[in-house]
Amino acid sequence: MNLPSNNDSRRALELQKLLNQANHSYYVLDSPILEDAVYDKLYKELIQLEKQCPSLITADSPSLRLGGKPAQRFKSIQHKIPLFSLDNAFSSEELETWYSRLEKTLNSASKVLSKNNKLEMICELKIDGNALALSYVNGILVRAATRGDGEQGEEITSNAQTISSIPLSLQLQNPPAWLEVRGEAFIPNQTFEDINEIREQKNQALFANPRNACAGTLRQLDPQIVASRKLDFYAYSIHLPKDWEPENKELARPINQLSALNWLKIAGFKVNKNAHICKNLKEVKLFFEEWETKRHDLPYATDGVVVKINNFNLQDTIGFTQKAPRWAIAMKYPAEESSTKLIKLTYQVGRTGAVTPVAEFESIFLAGTTVSRATLHNAKRLNTLDLHEEDTIVVRKAGEIIPEVVRVITELRPQNSKNLSLPLNCPECNKILVKENNEAITKCVNNKCPAILRGSLRHWASKGSLDIDGLGEKIIKQLVEKGIVNSISCLYRLDQMMLSQLDRMGNKSAEKLISAIQRSKKKAWHRKLYGLGILHIGEANAKVLTKEFNNIKNLSEASLNQPHLISNIHGIGSEIVESLQSWFSMETNQKLIEELNDIGVSLEDNESKSSNDQSQNTSIYNKSFVITGKMKSFTRNELKTIIENEGGKINSNISNNTNYLITGEKVGSKFKKAQQLNVKIINEQDFLELLKQ
Ligand code: NAD
Repeated sequence: MNLPSNNDSRRALELQKLLNQANHSYYVLDSPILEDAVYDKLYKELIQLEKQCPSLITADSPSLRLGGKPAQRFKSIQHKIPLFSLDNAFSSEELETWYSRLEKTLNSASKVLSKNNKLEMICELKIDGNALALSYVNGILVRAATRGDGEQGEEITSNAQTISSIPLSLQLQNPPAWLEVRGEAFIPNQTFEDINEIREQKNQALFANPRNACAGTLRQLDPQIVASRKLDFYAYSIHLPKDWEPENKELARPINQLSALNWLKIAGFKVNKNAHICKNLKEVKLFFEEWETKRHDLPYATDGVVVKINNFNLQDTIGFTQKAPRWAIAMKYPAEESSTKLIKLTYQVGRTGAVTPVAEFESIFLAGTTVSRATLHNAKRLNTLDLHEEDTIVVRKAGEIIPEVVRVITELRPQNSKNLSLPLNCPECNKILVKENNEAITKCVNNKCPAILRGSLRHWASKGSLDIDGLGEKIIKQLVEKGIVNSISCLYRLDQMMLSQLDRMGNKSAEKLISAIQRSKKKAWHRKLYGLGILHIGEANAKVLTKEFNNIKNLSEASLNQPHLISNIHGIGSEIVESLQSWFSMETNQKLIEELNDIGVSLEDNESKSSNDQSQNTSIYNKSFVITGKMKSFTRNELKTIIENEGGKINSNISNNTNYLITGEKVGSKFKKAQQLNVKIINEQDFLELLKQ
């Protein structure tokens, strides 16, 4: 037998203690202390440790239990047939392992399946609610019970009677003398939000999710409160007396899960209509993937798909483990929350000098992607989290949203670990940092700080600003590090020689970058103002200001000497005026304006002028282009952007109106058509020449 290391023993004890506490809080108190995905992850870790070294299994290990003990408020009842949990599969591999184990079991039980009728499965949505067992005697609902620990639950009949989708009597002419129906009670999403809104108004603790709200409601002692919460119920299984035979053919004794669902429907239950028969694992995976996005449009929460062997005879042969049926498995959707270990805290200095702490942690898979870092936004957030070295943290990432650190699991904090706080000096230039806004923001105010310069260059080159193609993070970093660029204006003096000092910068790329930078001179005045990165001047404010002031000189003049001209503009508040005043009063900024002007980046409204210029001066303006074949130095999109930026048009088909066909490698039928219509045919090199004209 494997002997556990000290670390493993300590970790197992730690997990057992925490998970027992979590079980009690979840099942007994209806007030979870861990997020479900965090619970699942830690539980899995414990099972793995215990599997490696069974001596770690304590007499009270949570792995020994089906669930929690029922609370004392309701009458405890013994289930006639235990309510099992479901084993989980968190990946395709786990699903495949489950399936091949079943095939082996059935082969050794010599239930050799015919080729056409391999292990047929039925997929059902896993409704995220609470299991109920409903007993009907002669067709009348006589008892409803929660799952509890699977053996013993709580009697909540009067509460279940308030759920409209649970029939109080079955719609059957000759109901069986006794029948147990199982299914999931749940709270629809909208109802959940309404309940929490009311609780918030009453200063009551909010429910963590619809499932907890449902559990809390089912255990309300006052059925009127339950009725007001509008629970719902989907039935998914039946237990009939062994000797029961129907009188009516339509209601034949179900022989598989699909017919059981039909049976339930006929008897008057609400059954989820999205159940689907799958002949093989490929179909199961397709169903799972299809619902991964579609589930967000459902009015209730689902956290996965339950895959069941359809045939009841096969289910009987396959049987149960101590905890769950072997013939079913729950495939869970990737968690949007998980726990992980903090590796270190790093700091980012932005273009405004604000220092942002960033948590770097052991990578985790969240909502479909791997994440290993999350910004903590500011010092205040860092203090609220009270992060310590080597902390276990909960990270959340919902959909497209960037990951965030939700909280620290303090119970798993190593002894004597040190508290983490922001540094006193700038991590980039080592100058003392300054605190602003009631200590919420910590800033570097050194205007020579390389991080601030990098941030300003990034902002100047970004999409909404001057949109300089090819001037990315890595190039900016090198330009600053090598001292080639020390202000925005330096970008416009870059030449091939200077760029050749950069890693992996060939002549072609250098040429492309220089021409992208030069072209940016023609960008609109509002983009340039936004690009300067003045505090509070976002894209919208830049547009408003540039409508009133047609050049930077006028704007600077008004900011410094006639601020009322700015504050009188609709939508412009005092914060913006102050920010403009402070920006224009700085010598470095006035110098930047001058330099930009000297190199031809006119900070003024030259739209009309420039379009006139363009029509006279560029060979691309107002011309129509069609592209064919694969280009060497551009992607299609890059080429398209260049043409459009120069006022040209892109069409997909050749016509009499086409001016140029640009050809790359492996040209298509457009080439012939262009020849027929006498359209000018040019290659990439010709196009670059055209661009220069
Ligand atoms: P489960 O939720 O993983 O799955 C089993 C349940 O799925 C069944 O009991 C049934 O109620 C439900 N279900 C929904 N649709 C179904 C369908 N179509 N067919 C069959 N069953 C269906 O397992 P569980 O044992 O109910 O709960 C364990 C889970 O509870 C853990 O995985 C964890 O996420 C959560 N938990 C959380 C904490 C915490 O502290 N946050 C503590 C304990 C448990």
